[in-house]
Amino acid sequence: MADLSFAIEPVYLATVFLFIIALQRMSHPLTARSGIVWAGAAMLIATLVTFFTPNLTNIALIAIAIVVGGGFGYIAARRVSMTHMPQMVAFYNGMGGGAAAGISAVALLGPTTAITASLAVAGGLIGAVSFSGSLIAFLKLQGWMPSRPVTFPGQQPVNMVVLALAIISGIFVVLQPSWVPLSVSMWLPLFFLLALGFGLLMTLPIGGADMPVVISMYNAFTGLAVALDGFSFATPNYAMIIAGIIVGAAGSLLTLHMAKAMNRSLANVFFGAFGATEEQAAQVSGSMKAIEVDDVAILLAYADRVIIAPGYGMAVAQAQQKVKELSDLLGARGVSVKFAIHPVAGRMPGHMNVLLAEAGVAYDHLFDRDEVNPEFPGTDVVLVIGANDVVNPAAHRQGSPLFGMPILDVEQAKNVIVLKRGQGKGFAGIENDLFYRDNTRMLYGDARETVGKLVQALKKL
Ligand code: NDP
Repeated sequence: MADLSFAIEPVYLATVFLFIIALQRMSHPLTARSGIVWAGAAMLIATLVTFFTPNLTNIALIAIAIVVGGGFGYIAARRVSMTHMPQMVAFYNGMGGGAAAGISAVALLGPTTAITASLAVAGGLIGAVSFSGSLIAFLKLQGWMPSRPVTFPGQQPVNMVVLALAIISGIFVVLQPSWVPLSVSMWLPLFFLLALGFGLLMTLPIGGADMPVVISMYNAFTGLAVALDGFSFATPNYAMIIAGIIVGAAGSLLTLHMAKAMNRSLANVFFGAFGATEEQAAQVSGSMKAIEVDDVAILLAYADRVIIAPGYGMAVAQAQQKVKELSDLLGARGVSVKFAIHPVAGRMPGHMNVLLAEAGVAYDHLFDRDEVNPEFPGTDVVLVIGANDVVNPAAHRQGSPLFGMPILDVEQAKNVIVLKRGQGKGFAGIENDLFYRDNTRMLYGDARETVGKLVQALKKL
């Protein structure tokens, strides 16, 4: 085969531009899908051009791995439902971290300098932590292990000791001091075992409610590990370095954004074991008052302003299409309809935006928390569709585990109608006193069925 290795560097550079364009397109719901296509194309090009690397061996093995991995990814991605997306992201992210750790191991077993070996050890440590940590996150989100925090006495000191031992063994791998008995090939597996163990131990005490934040942070870790690995070769791999840095930076920003939206510090997410203890006796009084579909239809039909606050339950019920139909019907009657989107409504960032955009709700009907909160007092009806934590006024009450979480202040509207199946709690497992307020009525049932009935009732009016 002709030597085309001269093309590798310029093509890698071109793919970096494609990644940046992709990222830019992903920042708006209307162009996000095409952003994914751009990023996929860039990844494909970078992968293909790598085959021109001189003296590449094991081509058959690489091809088999690509077919098996790519085939699995394709089928799994086609089958996954939106509500199971976080665990899928956790799984793929873990695979990325594992691959980065594998690359480090290969680099460390080959010829290295002190600098490239140090970078490979750093990449290996971070990649391995991301691998085992993401797998625990996957198991918790998938419900294959209890999602509550797993804690034991002395947990933090034990974690710190394991991390320190991993770092020490990494230093031995790099320096290979003569007074240390074992050779690199002995220290290396120990180093990786300790790093994997640390990822596992670090993730066990984190509760299911914080998992999406954790996944986003491991995503940043994987990017960082890949970037460090890019430096660990004799000739740096610029595609890995720049793509890794982009993922690391984007993941870090997303992590901070999500932590802010939940009003949690990262230290609190990682060391707070949120959800490990039961909340103090719920501060609710009175009873939940039910309402019938026909009454809600009349309320809506004769309202001037309606705000719809969707949450995870709308995603579970796949009610977005019906909700769009409802909002169109109301719009046709001259009712002003807005959607209030909380940044962490659902189970992943942008969850509600994606679902509603898919159903064809115009983007200019969606309003974020800061835009919409001042409007609730002048709103006739708020329809809370399968949302719970993000509308829980307990967030304003000192002592509540939700205290300080910025919420949608729906309780200030004249009428609040909550669509949910029963008396189930939200993701944080905390009682919601909104449901007991005088201006709140509960419309029980699966959100898709209920909204479907509302549509029918409205059509008859
Ligand atoms: P919640 O998970 O708090 O509540 C969802 C509600 O939907 C439940 O109370 C449930 O009540 C109801 N529900 C479930 N299925 C259906 C159905 N088929 N039809 C009607 N109702 C249904 O959702 P929120 O969106 O309010 O809050 C999201 C939570 O996830 C927050 O705690 C947030 O911090 C957390 N989170 C989100 C992240 C993100 O990026 N989006 C990231 C990290 C965490 P019932 O069982 O009675 O029907």
